[in-house]
Amino acid sequence: MEYKPTIGLEIHIELKTDSKMFCSCKNDPDEKRANFNICPICTAQPGVLPVINKEAVRKTIKTGLALNCNIAEISKFDRKSYFYPDLPKGYQISQYDKPFCKQGFLGINNKKIRITRVHLEEDTGRLIHEKDSSLVDFNRAGIPLMEMVTEPDLTSSKEARGFAQELKLILKYLGVSYADMEKGQLRVEVNISLSKDKKMGTKVEIKNLNSFKIVEQAIDYEIERQAELLDGGKKIIQETRGWDEKKGITVSQREKEEAHDYRYLPEPDLPTLHLDKKFVQDIQGEIPELPQAKRIRLAYEYKLDENVIKIFTSNKDLGEYFEKVMSELSNWLKEADYQKLVKLAVNYITTDFWSLFGKASIEELESRITPENFAELIKMIYKQEISSRIAKQVLKEMFETKADPSHIIKEKGLTQLTDTGEIEDIIKQIISKNQKAVEDYKKGKENALQFLAGQVMAATRGRAKPDIVQQLLKKMI
Ligand SMILES: [Zn+2]
Repeated sequence: MEYKPTIGLEIHIELKTDSKMFCSCKNDPDEKRANFNICPICTAQPGVLPVINKEAVRKTIKTGLALNCNIAEISKFDRKSYFYPDLPKGYQISQYDKPFCKQGFLGINNKKIRITRVHLEEDTGRLIHEKDSSLVDFNRAGIPLMEMVTEPDLTSSKEARGFAQELKLILKYLGVSYADMEKGQLRVEVNISLSKDKKMGTKVEIKNLNSFKIVEQAIDYEIERQAELLDGGKKIIQETRGWDEKKGITVSQREKEEAHDYRYLPEPDLPTLHLDKKFVQDIQGEIPELPQAKRIRLAYEYKLDENVIKIFTSNKDLGEYFEKVMSELSNWLKEADYQKLVKLAVNYITTDFWSLFGKASIEELESRITPENFAELIKMIYKQEISSRIAKQVLKEMFETKADPSHIIKEKGLTQLTDTGEIEDIIKQIISKNQKAVEDYKKGKENALQFLAGQVMAATRGRAKPDIVQQLLKKMI
């Protein structure tokens, strides 16, 4: 019989705030100079007093609300005692029995994953090990760190990865964290046990997984390792393991501490917080449309397919740009086939427009190619005033010059050739130069006609109307 994995996650998230959690030092994750953003408070000098960062509290509550949590009316901070060289106080200010948020959930593929709690604490410093010495950098010490804990509702590595990815997306929508895993701004810990029946097996914790792929790999490895031990009649030890990326295995780090090992005690230097209804309601009002609601709306409103919805939700800015373009087109919709317009806009936004992302940020891109001008271009393509080849060229020009499409088309002489006489002259030349293709077409080879049409389009630099070219070619051969 197969073992059933039971998986829970603990996710640490560095919050995006101007200053640190309990002092006015800058919260700058990109600061390269060691021990630059530090002060007596975040380096734990005697006699200093911490002050709570209100913005960090707001962002934690915002996250809790987005994850359907109950928000505490009374919350407090506690000291979590343990000694480690990157923790100068010898304890971490965290939250124990009165976290800000409790009992929420997040829906993943129609399954509710329960969220035990979301609380706020401070990050530790960073140790750098060099040859025979270790250095400590306190820039990170005291950065607001949010911890989210799930119930053990996950049952596979894929599901755990899906949860973490969705959470990251939500954090970005909320604007509470950069959530860059490579920079350690989002760190995943996995609790996993195996069992054949309803009784839970012994739990093993895997710490510091810094990419979604590693989360998946580490869980798969651990399922295999524990199953082998159990099959061999051995016991699972409750412990903390780490991920060895080179070997692709988990390795034992230490036997797991229990909560009582931390000797939590209420932080005497900080007041108990009373969160009034108005404060929480105001934060609720700031929550934007979240990814899942957006997926449903995009499918309903524009009938987009799943792939496009995925692109527009995971790249929020791109999705918003698409909607701005559609809103520009809305005044004009009465005369047009709506779904055809949607399709055109999607095609050009997810290909040509998106490829410009590497060259500029979305703000820059939007200032160069305004949604209004983009909509204008889509209209011209729709009305077959320009070919797709010209459209691509115009889009590039729009990016470079910030001009509107009709201006570029006029300036560059890219207007559609409607004068059939002029097109006929070009066709004559193409026919005389490509006699073999003409013969082939006469013998019934359809693609010979496409070849000739392509030659005509090239000779007119894409300015001829494709259907007119086809008609004239057939007539003239
Ligand atoms: Zn400081």
